[in-house]
Amino acid sequence: MPPVEPDFSGEPGAARSVAVIGGGPAGLMAAEVLARGGANVTLLDRMPSLGRKLLIAGRGGLNLTHGEALPAFLARYGEAAPHLTPAIATFPPAALVAWCEGLGQETFTGSSGRVFPRALKASPLLRTWLARLAGLGVAIRTRHRWLGWDAAGGLAFATPEATGTLASRGPIHAFGRSPPATGPLSLRPAATVLALGGASWPRLGSDGAWTALLPGVAIAPLRPANCGFTIAWSEVFRRRFEGQPLKRIALGFGGRVVRGEAVVTATGIEGGAVYALSAALREAIAAGGPVVASLDLRPDLSAAALAARLDGPRGGQSLANHLRRAGLPPIAIGLVQEALHAGETAPLSRLVKAMPLRLLAPQPIARAISSAGGVAWAELDARFMLRARPGIFLAGEMLDWEAPTGGYLLQACFSTGAAAGRGVLDWLSGR
Ligand SMILES: Cc1cc2nc3c(=O)[nH]c(=O)nc-3n(C[C@H](O)[C@H](O)[C@H](O)COP(=O)(O)OP(=O)(O)OC[C@H]3O[C@@H](n4cnc5c(N)ncnc54)[C@H](O)[C@@H]3O)c2cc1C
Repeated sequence: MPPVEPDFSGEPGAARSVAVIGGGPAGLMAAEVLARGGANVTLLDRMPSLGRKLLIAGRGGLNLTHGEALPAFLARYGEAAPHLTPAIATFPPAALVAWCEGLGQETFTGSSGRVFPRALKASPLLRTWLARLAGLGVAIRTRHRWLGWDAAGGLAFATPEATGTLASRGPIHAFGRSPPATGPLSLRPAATVLALGGASWPRLGSDGAWTALLPGVAIAPLRPANCGFTIAWSEVFRRRFEGQPLKRIALGFGGRVVRGEAVVTATGIEGGAVYALSAALREAIAAGGPVVASLDLRPDLSAAALAARLDGPRGGQSLANHLRRAGLPPIAIGLVQEALHAGETAPLSRLVKAMPLRLLAPQPIARAISSAGGVAWAELDARFMLRARPGIFLAGEMLDWEAPTGGYLLQACFSTGAAAGRGVLDWLSGR
């Protein structure tokens, strides 16, 4: 494929025309930086409206970022930390908070260090942000699905109209145009930002189909991150406890123990404590099949205290009553019974402190909070531009990084969006 040449067609503004494809947090932030920097920005998205995953993140309160010190913060990105550090150091958590407050959304830091808008949802933030972008002159085109490059080197889009010129759709910034009589819309902006997201929750727009649109570019396979895992529950257990929370538990795997919550699902287990260990669990399963995690149902009680309560004679009580008197809720009792039925012979206190949970596989990426994998860092220069395709910049979850929940996902999306926007401005100005 020939690289897309910048368009200097002579139309006013063509030399500074930028297409941002993908209207999630990364693309929207790139569009803001670009518009403030004097570019003529058109933002295109395949969905009928923008920021759908951001809105869903708002259902959980919209954990924007985290208040911990930057070195600890950056370490959450593991191997990708060195690649993300310049972007996050330039647009760090404090800048994200200030930006959010600049949009009229006051923030607060919870006891865990997580930062949220006071509104605990994304809709007011997104609404004000889109109005700000419109004020900055960003043109928005929804229902425009990017299909890759056409034979002439233009960006090809499937649109509701499918045919026709941009002029027939009302004002849009001055791109070079090669309007075909039929077939997809074709655009030739001076530069392009791709911010197409990962592959979780595909009905919100980011379906990962872009991985087929960048031939010759190394892409680490998209895999579920912050995901649940399948467990072969008995039918009795599943019917009784599906959808119920396991509160104040601790989950251990690979030398790490995470306190938190989990939820029993029809096919397994998900929730915060599981997500925190999900990268290690996923990789261990990929390397060698099912793994056993250790579930502590009473992390607040020592093994000795539990043994004193549980491992003596039951005095004629049923097993369930015996466990109930030791302070276990019905779902924990159900888990102990499930383990005994499966042939576990360890003393009860041991089962409560270190219940073996056999995890068969990660749940499908469509159900995951985020994606691991994406475009390999070696493909990008320091401006977030594809080395093989000058003028094409990338941002957000489509890059090869993963992070736990806690605000790290959105922070990296906002920061890389800003970095790609700055990268385009640098490139357009010939620096
Ligand atoms: C349930 C849930 C809760 C979450 N909660 C949090 C949280 O509290 N804190 C946090 O940090 N993170 C959270 N996340 C993760 C966070 O929302 C994502 O990491 C973030 O939205 C990714 O941003 P992005 O801009 O890279 O991609 P996306 O937000 O996925 O946006 C990509 C956009 O690209 C568009 N697109 C894709 N392909 C094409 C194409 N071919 N043509 C045109 N447009 C296309 C899509 O329609 C979409 O609008 C949550 C995710 C989920 C699913």
